[in-house]
Amino acid sequence: MAYLDRVLDPPFYGWTNSEGALSKPSPKQLFKEFFKRLNVFRCKKNWLPFFSWIRVLILIPLFLLFVFKFFSLTLLLVFFVYSMILMGTHGTIWHHRYCTHQAYTFKNDFWKFITQNLTISMIPEEIYVVSHHVHHAKSDQPGDPYNASGGFLYCFLADANHQPIAKDLSEKDYNSTVKLMRHTGVKANTFSQYLKWGSVTNPTVAIALCLLNWAFWYLIFFLIGGHPMACTVFGAAAFWAVGVRTFNYEGHGKGEDKRREGTDFNTNDMSINQLWPGIVAGEWHNNHHLYPKSARTGFLTHQVDLAWYYIWSGKKMGMITSYHDSKQEFRLRFAEPYQENKLKEASQQPIKSGVLEGNQ
Ligand SMILES: [Zn+2]
Ligand SMILES: [Zn+2]
Repeated sequence: MAYLDRVLDPPFYGWTNSEGALSKPSPKQLFKEFFKRLNVFRCKKNWLPFFSWIRVLILIPLFLLFVFKFFSLTLLLVFFVYSMILMGTHGTIWHHRYCTHQAYTFKNDFWKFITQNLTISMIPEEIYVVSHHVHHAKSDQPGDPYNASGGFLYCFLADANHQPIAKDLSEKDYNSTVKLMRHTGVKANTFSQYLKWGSVTNPTVAIALCLLNWAFWYLIFFLIGGHPMACTVFGAAAFWAVGVRTFNYEGHGKGEDKRREGTDFNTNDMSINQLWPGIVAGEWHNNHHLYPKSARTGFLTHQVDLAWYYIWSGKKMGMITSYHDSKQEFRLRFAEPYQENKLKEASQQPIKSGVLEGNQ
């Protein structure tokens, strides 16, 4: 069994059924696994997914204060920009392109820390990073932690049900997992701490950094616009953290083949380029599966990529030292041959019909 086959903790319903096809659990089974895996009183090794969901729960009152007490059109605009654009684009810049794919490098730890904390901290890096490598290795196959064929809930609850690392890794496998995370700067457990906590992430450091991040941002937004402003952005962060859990289902066609010719050039999996996640967060997901290590995924003219603009400007300003950019390769291998083919087909069309007419 390869390392990526054993690094994640398999759910009780397994990745495959007895025929070797994708195991499709019922909603009841999914919720049973979900609540079992969030129960820190049953086993403290569940702390990391619990830590992820408890952040959302803690912020719900602030979200409700925004909706029922402080609501105004200006704050609605702030809410929209913060949740959709800032949180979304930051997720792409940090969790996706840097922490997982190492599509670019920082000049030093200072700029890395600034980029990591550009927004309110919601998703633990480890939950995202390790399982995302598995997602790329097994896209739309059994074992893909957010396989869209498993249904909406299969993906929505994935960060608890399918994304945490296995609790019985050998020391060698644990060290490989630490290596996957090393460049992120997340303080890693020793192997004996892992046996106690079941994670790479060190709980004390992670909780302290999250509290500092929240205190800092609450203060900043409070100084800008008092409690109404602070509640709005914290509510927006919680709203995003729930919404982003729907992306993996939608980004792979909701279990159907929604790929479009001339837009989705990667045909190895069901990923699709979607306008909304593309525009607000730079997630052109089909392009991304074609070139996972590219710091830019907006390849076509209309494909706005805010995350790429951050990385590109960071390089210009010196805080980022290098990046991969696969746009040129995409153009040469996919976009231009496609256009040439289309032109050829169009020019052959009248000749063909002329030949047919001549034969009649
Ligand atoms: Zn994907
Ligand atoms: Zn990816």
